[in-house]
Amino acid sequence: MAAPKVAVVGAGVVGLSTALCVAETFPACSLAVVAEQFTPNTTSDVAAGMLIPHTTPGTPIHVQKQWFKETFTYLFAISNSVEAAEAGTHFVSGWQVFKSTPKEELPFWSDVVLGFRPMSEAELQKFPQHSCGQAFTTLKCDCPPYLLWLEKRLKAKGVQMYTRKVANLWELQSEYNIVVNCAGIGAHQLVGDQKLFPVRGQVLKVHAPWVKNFIRDGDGLTYIYPGIHSVTLGGTREKESWSLSPNPNTTKDIFDRCCALEPSLQRAQDIKVKVGLRPSRACVRLQREILSQGGAKLLVVHNYGHGSGGFSMHRGTAKEAAHLVGECIAALQDFSSRAKL
Ligand SMILES: Cc1cc2nc3c(=O)[nH]c(=O)nc-3n(C[C@H](O)[C@H](O)[C@H](O)COP(=O)(O)OP(=O)(O)OC[C@H]3O[C@@H](n4cnc5c(N)ncnc54)[C@H](O)[C@@H]3O)c2cc1C
Repeated sequence: MAAPKVAVVGAGVVGLSTALCVAETFPACSLAVVAEQFTPNTTSDVAAGMLIPHTTPGTPIHVQKQWFKETFTYLFAISNSVEAAEAGTHFVSGWQVFKSTPKEELPFWSDVVLGFRPMSEAELQKFPQHSCGQAFTTLKCDCPPYLLWLEKRLKAKGVQMYTRKVANLWELQSEYNIVVNCAGIGAHQLVGDQKLFPVRGQVLKVHAPWVKNFIRDGDGLTYIYPGIHSVTLGGTREKESWSLSPNPNTTKDIFDRCCALEPSLQRAQDIKVKVGLRPSRACVRLQREILSQGGAKLLVVHNYGHGSGGFSMHRGTAKEAAHLVGECIAALQDFSSRAKL
C-alpha cells in the first residue's frame, strides 16, 4: 500500500499539535494542514495560554488529568530547553484567590503543577477582599510564538500547509485517505455538531512588564496572566455569543476588575482588545468515524471541542488523536489487502 495521505483541518493549537504528533508517530505518512486561518488569526492566538485546566462534565477526571499531565510534561521539557524563548513557553508562579472556601479543596491538577500549597496569611495580605487562596507554579505559552514554533517544526518534517476553507470533509476525499478534524468552533458548521457552542471571551493584552506573578480570582472570570511579551487581563465567558466585536463596556469592566486585584495595572500601556470563541462541548470529541457516501468511504478522526482548556490539554489529546489515526492506517491496510484477494 502507498504511504497514507493525511489531512489535518485546522491550524490552531489543536490542529498543529495533532499534526505534529501524527508526523512524529507515523513519519511515512504524507501529511498536510489545511486551514482557513493560520496564526495570528485563530482563536488560539487570542488565548492566554495558561496551563490551568477547567473541568468538563462529559470526560472522566482521570482522562482529563492524563491529558493535562502529558501536556504539562511536554511543555516542561520545552521550557527547560534552548527552545524556550522561540517557543514562547515559560514557567509562571502566582496565586488563585477566593472570597469564600472553594468547594473543591484540591483540584484534580494540584499534583501536576509545581509546589501547590495553601497561601500563607502574609501572602493573603496582598488581597484584602479575599479570605483564602492557593499558590503554585505552572506553565504558560505566549500563543502566537508557540503556534509559529509548531508550524516551523511541521515544515521541517515536510508537512504542507494550505490556506483553504473546507465546506465539507468529502471535498478532501479525492486527495487524502484520512482526514483529522481539528476545526475548533468551525466544526459546528463543518460537521453540523449541534452539541458544540461558542463561549465568547474578551481579553486585554497590555504592556506591564513589572507584573511577574499570575493572579486568578477563584471563579476564573478575572485573571492577570503575565507572558513574555504582554500581560493578558481577563475576561468574560459568554455562552452562545458568536460576536467577535470587542465591547467597550466590557473592556472597562475587565480593566477595573484587574486593577482591583493588582492596582499597579492602572499604569499599564498599549492596551489591545481581543475576542475569541471557545469551542465548548460537554466533552472533547475525540473519536474515529467512517463516513460513507454512494459506496465511497472516508476515514475521519475528530479532535475538537476543547472549550476553555485547549492549551492545557492540547498535547494529551493530540497523542490520543494520533493513536486513532494509527487505527485508521491499520484499517486502510486491511481494506487494501482484502481488495487484493
Ligand atoms: C479569551 C480566551 C482565553 C483563553 N485562555 C486559555 C488559557 O489560558 N488556557 C487554555 O488552555 N485555553 C484557553 N482558551 C481556550 C483555547 O483558546 C481554545 O481551547 C483553543 O484555542 C482551541 O484550539 P483549536 O485549535 O481547537 O481552535 P482554533 O484555534 O479556533 O483553531 C481552529 C482552526 O480550524 C480552522 N477552521 C475552522 N473551520 C474551518 C473550515 N471549515 N475549513 C478550514 N479550516 C477551518 C480555523 O481557521 C483554525 O485554523 C482561551 C480562549 C479564549 C477565547
